[in-house]
Parts: sequence; C-alpha cells; structure tokens
Amino acid sequence: MSLIPNIYMCRQCGYLYEAEKGDSAVNIPPRTAVTEFPEVWKCPECGASSDCLEEIL
Ligand SMILES: [Zn+2]
Repeated sequence: MSLIPNIYMCRQCGYLYEAEKGDSAVNIPPRTAVTEFPEVWKCPECGASSDCLEEIL
C-alpha cells in the first residue's frame, strides 16, 4: 500500500491539485494519485499533460 502525496503543482502554470480532494471539475475522485490520472488528462488551467504535475508535498 502506497501513500498518496498530498499536493501536486503544474510546472507550467502553478495549478495545484490536492489529492485528498480530487478534482470534480475534471472527474478525478478524491484520493487519486497523479500516476492514476487518465492518459487524456489535461491541466484545467493551461492544458498541459499530467507529466507536468510535480509533487510538492
Ligand atoms: Zn497547468
């Protein structure tokens, strides 16, 4: 069992993704790790792929 990191930041625009909350705007349920994001995920702010999300906490 792996711990889910709390917060990721988009390197391009600074968008923050909080794993505890998920992101209902893009249909990501709470406690979803970025590694589990669908291939088609894009940053809601700048359209970057999930490769641009960096774990910061
Ligand atoms: Zn972004």
